[in-house]
Amino acid sequence: MNKWEELDKKYIWHPFTQMKGWLKNPQLVIDHGDGVKLYDTDGKEYLDAISSLWVNIHGHRRKEINEAIIAELNKVEHSTLLGLINEPSAELAEKLVEVTPEGLNKVFYSDDGSTAVEAAIKIAFQYWNYAGHPEKKDFINLGDSYHGDTVGAVSVGNVEVFHKAYKPLLFSTHRVSCPSFYHTKMDVRSEKEFLDALLKELEDYLKEHASHTAAMIIEPLCQCAAGMLMQPKGYIKGVRDLTKKYNVLLIVDEVAVGFGRTGLMYACKHENVLPDMMCLSKGISAGYLPLGATLVTDEIYNAFLGEPTEYKTFYHGHSYTGNNLACAAGLASLRIFENDDVIAGLPPKMEMIRQHFERINAMEFVGDARQCGMLGGIELMRDKANKVPFDPGLLMAGGICQNARKYGLIIRNIGDVIVFMPPLCSTPVEIDEMLSRLTKSMEEIF
Ligand code: PLP
Repeated sequence: MNKWEELDKKYIWHPFTQMKGWLKNPQLVIDHGDGVKLYDTDGKEYLDAISSLWVNIHGHRRKEINEAIIAELNKVEHSTLLGLINEPSAELAEKLVEVTPEGLNKVFYSDDGSTAVEAAIKIAFQYWNYAGHPEKKDFINLGDSYHGDTVGAVSVGNVEVFHKAYKPLLFSTHRVSCPSFYHTKMDVRSEKEFLDALLKELEDYLKEHASHTAAMIIEPLCQCAAGMLMQPKGYIKGVRDLTKKYNVLLIVDEVAVGFGRTGLMYACKHENVLPDMMCLSKGISAGYLPLGATLVTDEIYNAFLGEPTEYKTFYHGHSYTGNNLACAAGLASLRIFENDDVIAGLPPKMEMIRQHFERINAMEFVGDARQCGMLGGIELMRDKANKVPFDPGLLMAGGICQNARKYGLIIRNIGDVIVFMPPLCSTPVEIDEMLSRLTKSMEEIF
């Protein structure tokens, strides 16, 4: 055990980690990164197939982003947005408005995905007071949704294993069926039938309850942290049409799926949807520094305008809101998107994933290998024909991911789903290598 592992095990409590197992097992200490590679303290190379928890876009130690942060650091490291303006946050806000759906014109900064969602929940709640409907206070969410770990974000989430311990602490929501065709227990024979059933269920609820519903929150196209659950085509558009018809706000959480992950700059673009609010984080600073943003329409923003004595202020903010360095990283990242035409370069990479996933899907213990652009999930099943999962105690997917380290691959699982999220800058050759290494590990464990 080297010095850092000793210190870590003595002092650090890791996120989402059963520390008993952590302390017992040898752990990897990362020393540095370069492009899509990470290196441990012994100099061993690993391909980063999870983009350092879905945040990295243009690779590690990308020159242009390093330089932008250093340039800002040489001016000022942080200057509060409370009562002051800073240059990078203003410029980044303009760019964010440019690259997101037309109509989202105001940016509220926060620190991460959870706080971007937390801000959206509070904005929705408060908005209806000023829009003449103070009775609209409730929220609709999706089955198996994950929107972060702060108390509000957990309230609108419901991945049983993550959230059940906190139930007494949370506000209640109305949960509609999880829109995953592979997992549904509904009696439907096709994706189209499934879509119709989902939208009917939502409309039936809205007909009765829209009058007291403030907003619906969805993670569009793919519910990532729930296990890469894909939605039927037309779902986000259908949800938008219904929420509009029944005067309920639509919050889209693009924390994981934004910034090119699904093959377009943002996921709503696949179905030309304009939400009322969009939550962004992760890829926003290309994986460099914590930053979140909640984008809203003019209609929402304008409802909060008033005299100080009207108390319409949005009473919310964080010490590091709009941090200079994080915003400088975000700006540099968006410049790379433009200069390198990152989105236009994605199809051959997505095709490489598709080819591997087709092969992986045919493996004996793979129930479903599903892809959406530059993200994918490989769900394991003991009996694929009857969709019988492995005993969770076997830790099949976890074992495969752990074993993959031997082959120089860093990848993670959520339950028995292996999550594949390479940096967008990965070349087809690098993606080929990542998925070949994963396959080797799978074959060995199977
Ligand atoms: N929303 C979604 C869809 C996420 O996937 C996540 C994190 O994985 C969050 C919110 C929370 O983001 P953070 O971990 O930055 O707080």
